[in-house]
Amino acid sequence: MNKERSSSVELALSKMGNISFDIDGVIVYSVMDALDVVNKRLKTKYQLKDIKKPFQMTEWLKQDPKVEDPRKEDIELWNSWRVLSKARMIPGAYMVCKMLHNLDHPHLFITSRPAQTRPSTYHWFHKNLPWVTTDQIKMQNNGNEINPDFKVNQIIENSIDLHFEDSLEHAAQIINETEKTRVVLIRHEFTLAREKPHPRLIIPDTKETSLFLSFQKALEAYR
Ligand SMILES: [Mg+2]
Repeated sequence: MNKERSSSVELALSKMGNISFDIDGVIVYSVMDALDVVNKRLKTKYQLKDIKKPFQMTEWLKQDPKVEDPRKEDIELWNSWRVLSKARMIPGAYMVCKMLHNLDHPHLFITSRPAQTRPSTYHWFHKNLPWVTTDQIKMQNNGNEINPDFKVNQIIENSIDLHFEDSLEHAAQIINETEKTRVVLIRHEFTLAREKPHPRLIIPDTKETSLFLSFQKALEAYR
């Protein structure tokens, strides 16, 4: 980055205020690893483009007569050590996180993951973004369910101005239940068709899944 460009980034960043990132689908590409596990289990070859709705994998798991409770199995699979400790990273996440760290800009990682996934979450960050401290990772202390209310409460408690999110449902909830927080969308092929514009929702121009492209769009919005 040349000097002029880096100072314009810093200026836009200073207007952004406190930033937070959802983890799954924004930083961690856990869906890819969940797909690997489900395909191995069912001996199928499902791809990202086959995911049409939330809990799509529950539908697939129903095909296996050995699975007693497909919904429960789906959630357990996503939250398993195998998926969460080894998951790939969302394109551009390393660069964005490293830049915020280097510029010492306040940012948190807020997730609705259940409390039991704390060890695999810490392990993943230690391996992939080792400068992130555990204080920056906000997750439930108890509760073994996925809890979207936790995310909104943390956003309010930490006075977050700008949150990066991939779930359309969580984005809508954050916008509805906060007064000022703007939400930047990370786009996924399986959510594109359901996106709805809102004045506090920042949507990247391209359809690619990339935290870098979402961040770039946010910078434009603050210039
Ligand atoms: Mg997410």
